[in-house]
Amino acid sequence: MLLASERRLIADHGRRMTADRLVVGTSGNLSIRAGDLLAVTPSGHAYETLTPELVGVHRLDGGAVDAPLAPTSELPIHQLIYGHTDALAVVHTHSTAATVVSTVVDELPTIHYILAVLGGPIRVAPYATFGSQELAGNVLAAIEGRSGVLLANHGAVTYGPSIEVAYDRARYLEWVCDVWLRAHSLPPPFTPRVLGGPEMAEVSARLGGGYPTTGRSREAGPEGAGAAGAG
Ligand SMILES: [Zn+2]
Repeated sequence: MLLASERRLIADHGRRMTADRLVVGTSGNLSIRAGDLLAVTPSGHAYETLTPELVGVHRLDGGAVDAPLAPTSELPIHQLIYGHTDALAVVHTHSTAATVVSTVVDELPTIHYILAVLGGPIRVAPYATFGSQELAGNVLAAIEGRSGVLLANHGAVTYGPSIEVAYDRARYLEWVCDVWLRAHSLPPPFTPRVLGGPEMAEVSARLGGGYPTTGRSREAGPEGAGAAGAG
């Protein structure tokens, strides 16, 4: 079977996404890049019964190579990320906390240092209809310099050098969104403290990453005000 190990990994991580409550029903999707080919989840198929044989193999341009079913409707997101980054795996979830955060702010601030793993504060890509090229374009623009992004009123996307890393990033992102929501649910005088650029740069240096130390301010005041105003 073509891309046998990649297709098995897709099927296995599909079931993990359900068990880890990162998706509901048939929502969400996964892909792994192998050279000029992609192993990608089919559209609308239950993860519980997804076998490696049912995981499609497509070219980067979307053409089917060995695919008994239609690919995920979000294939454009995967194609654009592979075309513009060094990603070798992409994970799209509808996890609860990430989706809640995506409905109320334009950016998830660095409320926890672990966001350095994803490159810093996580932008929220503007809303567009699922499966559209417009949404894929919004995702690509918002994920620049990051390995994760929130999709407004929709969910989250992460990528990485392997499906294991991309999947872990999806779990980290969901966890930080949950922390952010809990911190914001506390009554005054409790106000979530946001880590600034220097703190995040120090973490990134320890992790061996490339957190940007320049660019627009990530200070707590503007972030907090923006979050409250957007609610
Ligand atoms: Zn989705």
